[in-house]
Amino acid sequence: MAKVQQGKETKILGVVAPPGTSQHLWGLAIDLRVSSKEQRKALNQNGWFQTVQNDVPHWTYVGLTEENLPLFGFNKQVVQGITYWITPL
Ligand SMILES: [Zn+2]
Repeated sequence: MAKVQQGKETKILGVVAPPGTSQHLWGLAIDLRVSSKEQRKALNQNGWFQTVQNDVPHWTYVGLTEENLPLFGFNKQVVQGITYWITPL
């Protein structure tokens, strides 16, 4: 039993972390399937933004309004109609 659990753990740890994964550990990021512009807008208005380019379902809680993002060093990047706010870190 212990060996099975150990093996399982090793397997999980062996998975290569995709970009933005570390943000999940801080509880500031979630992966969401957003299908409409309205949902996206609602998330943005509540301080949630997409911060990892090409990681579409990845949303990060920034807690800022969109117009304040550049003041905090976020770089706007529009890829395939999706606006990403890339963090300087
Ligand atoms: Zn993610």
